[in-house]
Amino acid sequence: MSAELAGSQIPDYILHLNQQIDRTGMDSDIDKQAEGLIGKEFPVLDHGFVRLVDYMGSDSAIVQAARVSYGDGTKKVSEDRGLIRYLMRHRHTSPFEMVEFKFHVKLPIFVARQWIRHRTANVNEYSGRYSVMKEEFYLPKNEDIRFQSTVNKQGRSEKEVPQELKNELLGYLQSSQKDSYANYDKFVETGLARELARINLPLSMYTEWYWKIDLHNLFHFLRLRMDSHSQMEIRVYADVIADIVRQICPIAYEAFYDYTFSAMHFSGLELKAIRSLFLNCNLSVEDLVTQGLSKREAKELVEKIKKLKEL
Ligand SMILES: Cc1cc2nc3c(=O)[nH]c(=O)nc-3n(C[C@H](O)[C@H](O)[C@H](O)COP(=O)(O)OP(=O)(O)OC[C@H]3O[C@@H](n4cnc5c(N)ncnc54)[C@H](O)[C@@H]3O)c2cc1C
Repeated sequence: MSAELAGSQIPDYILHLNQQIDRTGMDSDIDKQAEGLIGKEFPVLDHGFVRLVDYMGSDSAIVQAARVSYGDGTKKVSEDRGLIRYLMRHRHTSPFEMVEFKFHVKLPIFVARQWIRHRTANVNEYSGRYSVMKEEFYLPKNEDIRFQSTVNKQGRSEKEVPQELKNELLGYLQSSQKDSYANYDKFVETGLARELARINLPLSMYTEWYWKIDLHNLFHFLRLRMDSHSQMEIRVYADVIADIVRQICPIAYEAFYDYTFSAMHFSGLELKAIRSLFLNCNLSVEDLVTQGLSKREAKELVEKIKKLKEL
């Protein structure tokens, strides 16, 4: 047993060993679901897509890894859910790394520049040195053309842009994309090196890559890129990927959504400010269970509120 799990630190889930496994239908349902997903192109933006190439493991691989030292162990699906949620809640992240996804993605280069900052994936991209780049460029939809936000320096405002200005932008984008591709094509045809001919091609051009990542790091990517602060053009890819992951790892995705994506982080100072609200509050485990929390979660929240009062 690892030092981290020694003595009174042993989580409950480890204590339930060698009970009958009853995961009836769980893996085969997921396999059937995945069969319909693998190889299918999910369109994104005007010419892009996400395609699931392959995956390894699902919720049961997370459970299996968490219980590795103790044999295949336990359990019913409902208990597996409790375990996965426990792991997510307490940032026991490594069992989530046992699940892997491989995607084929077609995306504009400016989106790829943001995406590639996620260093914990394996990437193999289309080579513009080896192959001729295709004449495919991103053009924003009319309704996505917005003014600069005045509150968020990295965002768009809700304010409507006059159609005339939208047309002007679209016209400029289209003509410069056409021009730069015509020049690229001309120089490629002369026999000049493709690696030189391409250097003035715009960021709106589409590229493609294979992208492989484990579930823990994929959740990190999704947390950042599904967030409303993220640029819409990458967010739409994250949303499609999230939907695929949700179908293959429904329990882990639900836990991620609950404890990470829709959770909030408070600073020490913020907690002190919130403390006053809780001073006269006496929530019991039973009250909290009626709010949909499991008994274990309710106990943990009561402990947190107790700590908050002591700040
Ligand atoms: C809304 C938004 C706005 C952004 N704006 C900008 C911007 O203006 N300019 C800009 O440059 N970037 C910007 N970024 C990119 C951002 O700074 C991160 O580079 C990107 O989100 C990847 O995050 P990450 O490093 O946590 O992810 P990953 O690279 O996937 O890494 C995951 C985790 O692994 C660990 N890790 C990975 N590699 C290392 C390492 N070498 N050393 C230490 N720890 C490591 C870290 O804990 C990290 O959080 C923005 C991102 C978002 C979501």
